[in-house]
Amino acid sequence: MSVRILDIQEITKPISSPIRNAYIDFTKMTTSLVAVVTDVVRDGKRVVGYGFNSNGRYGQGGLIRERFAARIKEADPKTLLNEAGDNLDPDKVWATLMSNEKPGGHGERSVAVGTIDMAVWDAVAKVANKPLFCLLAERHSVKANPRVFVYAAGGYYYPGKDISMLRAEMRGYLDRGYNVVKMKIGGASIEEDSARIEAVLKEIGKDAQLAVDANGRFDLETAIAYARMLRDYPLFWYEEAGDPLDFQLQAALAEFYPAPMATGENLFSHQDARNLLRYGGMRADRDWLQFDCALSYGLCEYQRTLEVLKVAGWSPSRCIPHGGHQMSLNIAAGLGLGGNESYPDLFQPYGGFPDGVRVENGHITMPDLPGIGFEGKSDLYRDMKALAA
Ligand code: MG
Repeated sequence: MSVRILDIQEITKPISSPIRNAYIDFTKMTTSLVAVVTDVVRDGKRVVGYGFNSNGRYGQGGLIRERFAARIKEADPKTLLNEAGDNLDPDKVWATLMSNEKPGGHGERSVAVGTIDMAVWDAVAKVANKPLFCLLAERHSVKANPRVFVYAAGGYYYPGKDISMLRAEMRGYLDRGYNVVKMKIGGASIEEDSARIEAVLKEIGKDAQLAVDANGRFDLETAIAYARMLRDYPLFWYEEAGDPLDFQLQAALAEFYPAPMATGENLFSHQDARNLLRYGGMRADRDWLQFDCALSYGLCEYQRTLEVLKVAGWSPSRCIPHGGHQMSLNIAAGLGLGGNESYPDLFQPYGGFPDGVRVENGHITMPDLPGIGFEGKSDLYRDMKALAA
């Protein structure tokens, strides 16, 4: 059996929401939804792989249609196959996507490639008739663990939201089974933010831990002022204090913040990840890395990032990716990451879990679905099916 890619479809969809973090609001946010249509028919149904990009970066319809999908359609189909010739080889597809692309300057193209890469891996796992996390564990000769830690990301700023609403939001996450919650900081004064943090800590008590996220807003002085304020609280982590590429700021911050820090969601390549580990002062025994494959050239590249970590003495269990999508859940379950972000009320239908998957004690259990598992999430799959048709 051979496998051919017949078509790659893209549609740019709104995932808008009236929320804001310290840097952007999400009222105009979009995402690219991609379908990779193959010539394989299984149980009377055509195998189609699906992908989309994470929230926080916009849809990439122009790049996908004009450059990247075109390269795959123009390629000799035989050059995209694995050695046995019975499935696509994601790395060969990736190399074709990236032909005639200069190194560095990752910009928006890493998002376009990451979105197609997600759909390719979904198709590959469906052709193999396995959940992606099982396929990944086999390829890396490791044991899959279908139980994945997830935390609830929220605590955004939005018009009219007061402290009692923030507390109610966090209580709602605890009621749904989460034991780590996250809130935004840096979008208000330091006094206001410390009052918000104290209120949330009072609300969650001993039932859960709190992480805070500044979304890269602070200069060095403000990042340190916040570190001095935050270190008095028992926080799960202090996320993205300064500009994502300001490794010296991150390194300086470590001197003022002995507790766990987290960053990486806006680094889009294994080279940038390596620079963070080389120069960012991040500590392998306590800090967290949040690279999101859907924004950073996909899983082919993420595997190179995990290699970079290994060389630098980091365990994959220090990774808890940004984005709250099922792709990273599969990587976590298959390759031993520390968990995944989750947005219980936001970015639907793209975020979240297959229908019927519940959070218990801060963990979910991966269902047994071929591919990434999108077919198990009915609202999302409705949009996907419409695109492939
Ligand atoms: Mg963040």
